[in-house]
Amino acid sequence: MREKVIVIDFGGQYNQLVARRVRECNVYCEIYSYKTDIAKIKDMNPKGIILTGGPNSCYEQGAPSCTEELFNLGIPVLGLCYGAQLMMLVLGGKVEKAPVREYGKIEVSVNTSSALFEGVSPTTICWMSHNDYISQPAPGFDICARTADCPVAAAESPALGLYAIQFHPEVLHTKEGTKMLYNFVRGICGCSGDWKMDSFVENSIKSIREKVGNGSVLCALSGGVDSSVAAVLLSKAIGKQLTCVFVDHGLLRKNEGDEVEAVFGPDGPYKLNFIRVNAQKRYYSKLAGVTEPEQKRKIIGEEFIRVFEEEAKKIGAVDYLVQGTIYPDVVESGLGGESAVIKSHHNVGGLPDYVDFKEIIEPLRDLFKDEVRKAGLELGIPDNLVYRQPFPGPGLGIRIIGEVTEEKVRIVQDADLIYREEIAKAGLDRSIGQYFAALTNMRSVGVMGDERTYDYAVALRAVNTVDFMTAESAEIPFEVLQKVMSRIINEVKGVNRVMYDLTSKPPGTIEFE
Ligand code: GLN
Repeated sequence: MREKVIVIDFGGQYNQLVARRVRECNVYCEIYSYKTDIAKIKDMNPKGIILTGGPNSCYEQGAPSCTEELFNLGIPVLGLCYGAQLMMLVLGGKVEKAPVREYGKIEVSVNTSSALFEGVSPTTICWMSHNDYISQPAPGFDICARTADCPVAAAESPALGLYAIQFHPEVLHTKEGTKMLYNFVRGICGCSGDWKMDSFVENSIKSIREKVGNGSVLCALSGGVDSSVAAVLLSKAIGKQLTCVFVDHGLLRKNEGDEVEAVFGPDGPYKLNFIRVNAQKRYYSKLAGVTEPEQKRKIIGEEFIRVFEEEAKKIGAVDYLVQGTIYPDVVESGLGGESAVIKSHHNVGGLPDYVDFKEIIEPLRDLFKDEVRKAGLELGIPDNLVYRQPFPGPGLGIRIIGEVTEEKVRIVQDADLIYREEIAKAGLDRSIGQYFAALTNMRSVGVMGDERTYDYAVALRAVNTVDFMTAESAEIPFEVLQKVMSRIINEVKGVNRVMYDLTSKPPGTIEFE
């Protein structure tokens, strides 16, 4: 039995981060809604419980709550922000609107003899984001941290294993936050730290083998991180019983189709059946004359299903279909926490309806993205694949504004390759979150070789982001941008202008369409 800590979600914005940080302490962790039945929580037999932040005020009528019983299970509980306030309120303390709200990095004085703050500096910078505050801790609790404006920045009852902190240790702005979470899960909860990628990989291979027996498995391989890791995991478990179908829709980055084939094809290191479908022309003809972004996306998605379906028919009935679902998809589709967003999985867009199979296998269902990468490295997948940038399902189709044509695909592929080469040469490829070239639908006048030109403008995009929810445009040294510009204009026929996109997200998006 794997040790587990559970995160109870009260709707805060950093809740997935809490779970990720706990897992960085080598403790497995899952997120559940605050509405989860207490009996179910007991059944899961967690080593610890963490209550998250949330937008409400816990003293208001109808605010998300929890029962007092949760604190009497003999399981250590850590409340964060809303969770801390709620714990105090339920146990008889006082929570009210704070005379001074705190937001941002705040200096906190902590009592380092508290088990929660062991090894933490006596004054430390923490991330605060609250309007309410604990004006009086619950009976039996001692105050173990404060700030200039917040008399109870943390309170504890070590005898009961209960801890409440007003700030957010999961946010990286809290300098020693990971240490505090480590102190909680490894110290107070007594977890030994059995969540490691090598054992995850080993156990997954074993359980896939048991489950599949001598059945057959089909996987739609996109060349992205998730589907690649899933495919390799399956290949290690069941070898030739796995068939991967890779659809080259002609909207991939330059050489990408061949790169995927080199890794997963017959000359690559893995044992599996690899089918590459060269559907480029088919996609280009479907996309001819279409300019509206949503319609382009739809055509590309539907065509993918058609192509996949044709291949699946040739293969015949299979026992299992692999999907590269990862944990954030599970949480965001409402199965995990409180998050309201329903995400449609465009990478697997409705496949199950079109393939004759008995069951779905989702080998990465419990993993966060960084854990998928670690599993990939553990499996020996090449670095460039594991650290591949995010790439949208519709591919270059949405990096070409307006109509997609073969000619435009060539232009954007060539420009993008030059951009990537120069970014790598400048040593920036791991430090920039995401960067790519797009083709604007704008043509303008220029002069080249004394001749008037009327050609396209390429837009360069580069953003830094922690979570891809918000992003800032990256500060690329001007010499690097100039080098990219000059190479694109010289080497890519059809381009006479290069622009750099400065827009952050919001109000912009990372992609162009
Ligand atoms: N809504 C509560 C407050 O304003 C809790 C905030 C939070 O959890 N970040 O204090």
